[in-house]
Amino acid sequence: MATVILFVFGVIVGSFLNVLGLRWNSGLSLGGRSFCPVCGKKLCWHELIPVLSFVFLHGRCLQCKARISYQYPMVEILTGLIFATVPYIFIPVFCIYIVIGIYDIRHKIIPNSLVYASIALSLIVPLFIVHYSFLDWLAGPILFSFFALVWLISRGKAMGFGDAKLGLSVGLLLGAALGFSAVVLAFWVGAAIGITYMIFSPKKITIKSEMPFAPFIIFGSWLALILNLDLLHVSFF
Ligand SMILES: [Zn+2]
Repeated sequence: MATVILFVFGVIVGSFLNVLGLRWNSGLSLGGRSFCPVCGKKLCWHELIPVLSFVFLHGRCLQCKARISYQYPMVEILTGLIFATVPYIFIPVFCIYIVIGIYDIRHKIIPNSLVYASIALSLIVPLFIVHYSFLDWLAGPILFSFFALVWLISRGKAMGFGDAKLGLSVGLLLGAALGFSAVVLAFWVGAAIGITYMIFSPKKITIKSEMPFAPFIIFGSWLALILNLDLLHVSFF
């Protein structure tokens, strides 16, 4: 029962994170009623129910019938799942991660304000975790150095410097075993989706086509955390 309540609460929070991710740094105020981006119609209460409104309106605006992005219900459901599965203490950081993910998909960049906020929280959360070793404290700087190196060598083409800062946050938050697993997963899932996209996309794209990487790091972090993964067998050291 608690899981269901957490899921529903997460779905509602997810609809706010959607708005944050879309309006962050856009000049639009973060408060104020949501509106249709095509016709500008302000949404009334029955159009604002997370997930359900999307289903009942068949994914279209009530007034102009423009298609509503699948991003809305997907982020809402994902946030619900995250709320229902991660330990409570991790929820605030993952909320910031979700906004970072949305922003990175839309703008191919990670806002400093958000990633610094997540780093600050990632320094606090481990204080509440019992088994957090010296190596765990090093995981953040190690992941930061790793991504920074990829950024340097590829001259910013393979990875942005924002990914290095996000790596620092994830390493600090999850420690060595989970943090390294998160990044390994991010590369696996990223490669799988990248290759699928290259094969099936109608447009001619190459491996160099810019792909936002933050969503994969975040997805990997979630999986590593809830499955308690240690893909690099760090616990043996
Ligand atoms: Zn409309």
